[in-house]
Amino acid sequence: MFSQPLLMASRSAKMRKAITAIPVTRRVVGRFVAGETLPEVVAITEGLLSEDLTVTIDNLGEDTLDVADAIATREAYVALLSRLADLGLGRRAEVSLKLSALGQSLPSGAEQVTLDNALAICQAAEKAGTTVTIDMEDHTTIDRTLGTVTELRRDFPWVGAVLQSMLLRTEADCRDLATAGSRIRLVKGAYLEPESVAFQDKKDVDLAYVRCLRTLMHSEAYPMPATHDLRMIEIGQQLAADAGRAKDSYEFQMLYGIRPAEQRQLSREGHTVRVYLPYGTDWYGYFMRRLAERPANVGFFLRALVSK
Ligand SMILES: Cc1cc2nc3c(=O)[nH]c(=O)nc-3n(C[C@H](O)[C@H](O)[C@H](O)COP(=O)(O)OP(=O)(O)OC[C@H]3O[C@@H](n4cnc5c(N)ncnc54)[C@H](O)[C@@H]3O)c2cc1C
Repeated sequence: MFSQPLLMASRSAKMRKAITAIPVTRRVVGRFVAGETLPEVVAITEGLLSEDLTVTIDNLGEDTLDVADAIATREAYVALLSRLADLGLGRRAEVSLKLSALGQSLPSGAEQVTLDNALAICQAAEKAGTTVTIDMEDHTTIDRTLGTVTELRRDFPWVGAVLQSMLLRTEADCRDLATAGSRIRLVKGAYLEPESVAFQDKKDVDLAYVRCLRTLMHSEAYPMPATHDLRMIEIGQQLAADAGRAKDSYEFQMLYGIRPAEQRQLSREGHTVRVYLPYGTDWYGYFMRRLAERPANVGFFLRALVSK
């Protein structure tokens, strides 16, 4: 009931202005976002690593229309990776990026600017001894994003890709990308998509998720099931066991602030669990997608508003 208007609002400049202006929003945002600055996200990273979790850090931002902003995002990632290198955290702390924050939506020269920025971040990641995963955005960007992943993988074969089971095309993408060592994060999909390209019924999205998971687990790829759906996690564990996979040949991923107890429980059971850790000032779109995923989050937000 709530998710469609919230996902539409996540793209509205007017709503962005209104919601980010409410002081109490920040307190609620703090449940999902690891602060606005580099020292804040590094401190939370160290805390999570000390609990045997791993992380993938996202410098928040998307849909950049200005080259200077895209370059600023690249520099923020390079600074973050240099800090991670100094701390010697290696693969336990990697980064996730959105190509629309690096130039993919620019009115001209988008492809080259995006690739150059992403290459600079991959070089910094290699120096830090870690990896990069390229987030997936709405369906209109997929061919370009997978094209950039292919380019990046020429020099950096460890670059991870994301596939969204809600899209009709994804099972075929999954088969194509499930090559040896290919790091694939499998998600259900967080964007509002039309029925011409996406399943509309949650049951169909879940069934497609299981089919994709099966393809990945029975391939030579490195699957990264990213979900808070405990049924999907259980099926993932079963498929990994059926395929005779060692526990270090795949990992589970969840978002910061969502199902933290389950994150720790899976880790205690010997699984690699990676927490997606966003930070920065541009949290509006990310926050609205989290509200859209769960009506209870909207209630939480409204209660915070009235009790301020
Ligand atoms: C590590 C990671 C990276 C991601 N990267 C991308 C990406 O690049 N592109 C993309 O489109 N999507 C991405 N997503 C989001 C994903 O597509 C889903 O929108 C999101 O994970 C919710 O789906 P679910 O698999 O958890 O299942 P659901 O069926 O939506 O949820 C299962 C259960 O999990 C809990 N839950 C789910 N979401 C929330 C929430 N927001 N707050 C509180 N509880 C919740 C609820 O208990 C719910 O019943 C990512 C998700 C993760 C975990």
